[in-house]
Amino acid sequence: MERNTALRCGVLALQGSFSCHAQSLDRLGAAHREVRKPEDLEGLTHLIIPGGESTTLYRLGTIYGLLDPIRAAVRQGVAVFGTCAGAILLGTGPEPPPRLGLVPAVVLRNAYGRQKESFSADLKIRFLEKPFRGIFIRAPKIIQFENDSPDSDSEVLGVYGGTPVLIRYRRILLATFHPELTEDTGVHRYFLSL
Ligand code: GLN
Repeated sequence: MERNTALRCGVLALQGSFSCHAQSLDRLGAAHREVRKPEDLEGLTHLIIPGGESTTLYRLGTIYGLLDPIRAAVRQGVAVFGTCAGAILLGTGPEPPPRLGLVPAVVLRNAYGRQKESFSADLKIRFLEKPFRGIFIRAPKIIQFENDSPDSDSEVLGVYGGTPVLIRYRRILLATFHPELTEDTGVHRYFLSL
């Protein structure tokens, strides 16, 4: 497969499903590296913050001194993809953990219920022709997002049950489901195109 050498994607590898994201990037032939220290962010064009447990991610991110460098990377134009717990961290919200607030979206944790209420559903994604199998694991809900004025920087790219499940704000993509757990690389491909 063709390798895109201009792309340098990092995957935050503190906790959660980072290795599955790495596999999705491998399927696309995209170079990637694990991010555990602030230096690992150097020179990246893209960064994935995976699903896992948002409180743990926040704590480890604080201990490893990564949260401010991630904010700075976003300011410098690095594209970021937060999935599930990653989306929780990147948005805002009334409950712990403290959020990075880089996307003006209120993301409510565990909003579909407990682990046993996890589910999957076929999603219509705006930029994909075929339905995308969305796997929702103790998923959050995006309950507020200002979006979709014609030339705004924000758009809802996928909805499930009337609730946005995939949104873009500038170069930040948030998914409340786990695209790295399916073989379909359509969502990752779109992220790398940002
Ligand atoms: N419920 C988890 C949290 O609040 C997120 C679940 C996930 O990332 N699959 O952090």
